[in-house]
Amino acid sequence: MTTVDKELVQADVIIVGAGPGGLTAALYASRANLKTIIIEKGMPGGEINNTADVENYPGFKLISGPELANHIFESAMAFGAEHVYGDVEKIEVEGLTKKIHTSKTIYQAPVVIVATGANHRKLGVPGEELLAGKGVSYCAVCDGFFFRNRHVIVVGGGDSAVEEGTYLTQFADKVTIIHRRDELRAQKVLQNRAFANEKVNFVWDTVVEEIIGENNVEGVKVRNVKTDETSTIEADGVFVYVGLIPNSDTVKALNVTNEEGWIVTNNQMETSVPGLFAVGDVRHTNLRQIATAVGDGSQAGHMAYQYLMSLKD
Ligand code: NAP
Repeated sequence: MTTVDKELVQADVIIVGAGPGGLTAALYASRANLKTIIIEKGMPGGEINNTADVENYPGFKLISGPELANHIFESAMAFGAEHVYGDVEKIEVEGLTKKIHTSKTIYQAPVVIVATGANHRKLGVPGEELLAGKGVSYCAVCDGFFFRNRHVIVVGGGDSAVEEGTYLTQFADKVTIIHRRDELRAQKVLQNRAFANEKVNFVWDTVVEEIIGENNVEGVKVRNVKTDETSTIEADGVFVYVGLIPNSDTVKALNVTNEEGWIVTNNQMETSVPGLFAVGDVRHTNLRQIATAVGDGSQAGHMAYQYLMSLKD
């Protein structure tokens, strides 16, 4: 299908990505009576769907990720925003108009809010790709169940590695967290919970150099970065939590990202392109939480209205 054949859909505000940031922006924009369309290629809720328990989102002492995703989605849709399926290929700017291309449709609006989040970074070692889905995983909530009474390795030292490592003890007999330093980056509350869990043990100052196994994960080859000593640790699964990479390819040509690919905004979520906003994990920020994404989304939804009013002056 050529560009000419594509259906053209017009709105006031197009939001790309239905995680907590995008959904909150949709709530604020639609509640301000703006014709709002939110485009998502996966499940509404984004990364929260892969989180077992959320205990740091105000209003809920403890709630499952998918349940919270559903609550946020329902309230975001309550004021008339439209949710459509679509895999966005590129975002173009022509004067004041932004064009969002999917395979079948071109969405057009003066305001676009990019809420495309981030993906899990890969380790980039031999065996990782080959054994993905055969013991190598990036989602404990999705795959933890397969490791009942097994030994699993978690790679990383941030919130994700430590929280998901502890979560995996529900299934696994033993969880070994391998971290490249001798100090965790994770929040203290998560560290303390992991240290207190008998099933969790740590291997410090160590990097994974290879994931081994023919049809399934059998273990990892590791190297101690202080002694340079190498060894093999046997395991049935490897969960990789070594950080995030931004999903910002669709706006790369617009010059709104920094050298690492995060979208740069001001406190009002405005990028350097008028009418183009970014919220949530894809944004250059020092804290990536559901609560911060929701804050970003409310700001962007509000600013979308302000921006559209300014065009009428
Ligand atoms: P992160 O905070 O960037 O941590 C990544 C970890 O992986 C770091 O410990 C890093 O080591 C290690 N690492 C990076 N590259 C590596 C490599 N090539 N080999 C071995 N180790 C490597 O990422 P994250 O834990 O996925 O968290 C992402 C964001 O989500 C953060 O902002 C986090 O706070 C947030 N989050 C919050 C919660 C919560 O509030 N409950 C839960 C999950 C995530 P160094 O420490 O040495 O750099």
